[in-house]
Amino acid sequence: MRCPSCNAELTPKLGDHHYTESGMDNVYLHQVEIFECTCGELVVSIPNLPALHDLIARNLLSKKSLLSGQEIRFLRKNLGLTALALAKVLGVNNATISRWEHDEHPIQEPTDRLLRLVYALHKGIPAQDLLRDFSEIQGQPSAPVKIDLCAKEWHAA
Ligand SMILES: [Zn+2]
Repeated sequence: MRCPSCNAELTPKLGDHHYTESGMDNVYLHQVEIFECTCGELVVSIPNLPALHDLIARNLLSKKSLLSGQEIRFLRKNLGLTALALAKVLGVNNATISRWEHDEHPIQEPTDRLLRLVYALHKGIPAQDLLRDFSEIQGQPSAPVKIDLCAKEWHAA
């Protein structure tokens, strides 16, 4: 890889990356290729994004507390839906999606489960796995879950 700023040839080293590009504050990637140039440019190479996002989503679907605003937004975007489109699928008001995503109002328990099921159906994830976890979901709104992933985990996917 060449530096996008100065065109110098760069060699990668493996390192950790706080994956804020996901739109979530608590996702950490490990053993990803990081290209750091002497000019100050920093490029992080994240392979196989669809598989990574699928893995992150599966972590969220099995979360034992209600989805946070950032997590709801991540799932919605990964479904490729606008807030309006998701509102229609879930049978809620458009403004409700916005309130969830900005943590102004927690998602209701039945709607949280419905969102997880809709996501699983869209992505072909077996719903039986979800149903087993559903009985363990605690009803109170929560801080976003911390997700630690090693590049090997989604490289192979
Ligand atoms: Zn450079």
